[in-house]
Amino acid sequence: MAKAVLEVRNLVATFRIDKKEYPVLRDISFTVHENETVCMVGESGCGKSVTTLTIMDLLPSNGRVVSGSIKLNGQELTTLTRKERNALRGKRMGMIFQEPMTALNPLLTIGRQLTEGLRLHQGMTKKQAYDTAVEYLEKVGIANPQDRMKQYPFQLSGGLRQRIMIAMVMAVQPSLLIADEPTTALDVTIQKQVLVLLNKLKKDVSTGVLFITHDLGVVAEIADRVVILYAGCKVEEGAIGEIFSNPQHPYTIGLMKAVPDVEAEEFDIQPIPGVFPNITEEIGGCRFHPRCPYATDRCRSELPQEIEISPGHTVSCHLVKEAQE
Ligand code: SF4
Repeated sequence: MAKAVLEVRNLVATFRIDKKEYPVLRDISFTVHENETVCMVGESGCGKSVTTLTIMDLLPSNGRVVSGSIKLNGQELTTLTRKERNALRGKRMGMIFQEPMTALNPLLTIGRQLTEGLRLHQGMTKKQAYDTAVEYLEKVGIANPQDRMKQYPFQLSGGLRQRIMIAMVMAVQPSLLIADEPTTALDVTIQKQVLVLLNKLKKDVSTGVLFITHDLGVVAEIADRVVILYAGCKVEEGAIGEIFSNPQHPYTIGLMKAVPDVEAEEFDIQPIPGVFPNITEEIGGCRFHPRCPYATDRCRSELPQEIEISPGHTVSCHLVKEAQE
């Protein structure tokens, strides 16, 4: 069994809005192993990005972790000081954002940004850092890397900037890579190239990848395991083949039906009925019940507990539990 890189257990986080605390993550647990890509999937506002920000200790000032545990290579992160967490970022865990300009400094050359991280986190000399930066630019398929090192981010296309961001993060050889919708802003061809690249680098470095996306096409390309979130709750988790061939939670089934089948003669998209709940909305029982076609009185009053229906495949739904009994 591959080693666990990231272990998140019973994570609860809140946002303070108008002097009131609202849960944004409700008892979230999952694991990422080395050389494994776990895709976290769900609609906007489901808690995917908040999960990554919580792991990276980048929650906004009105957000806080209430309880739960986050371990990186067995080390508990929630009890570390901010300074200790900062030291881990960039060294043992790296993050790639949807828009690379979020992380790239527009005032510094690509070379300076790439080498600084290597010198700081890996203790390399100037020459070693330069050579490693060029090597990683080549690995991510960037031609004339020496020339690119002299350029500024604004001189590069979005696709190139994203490759440079990947090179910058992977050159440090982190245990954990968090990628938050890294291909959403790219056109389809570049998107595919970036996914292939991420997969290759993951294997080279044995990194564990937590990949955030709302796109099931991307999930099919890259995931080993899938975690489905709805309104701050984990509703289903399983291996990619299991989730795609045997989805159990009504929300997961709804997500699958909402994807157009491009090979079908007619598009038959069935959007999930109803609207996604607001963070401030109080919903008793199962948080999906207002939109679930199978909701019962029990669903409206009692929060479903997670059950394991086959090895590694878990679901939180009364209906599935009752069918198992
Ligand atoms: Fe639907 Fe009830 Fe299952 Fe929630 S617990 S998903 S409301 S059947």
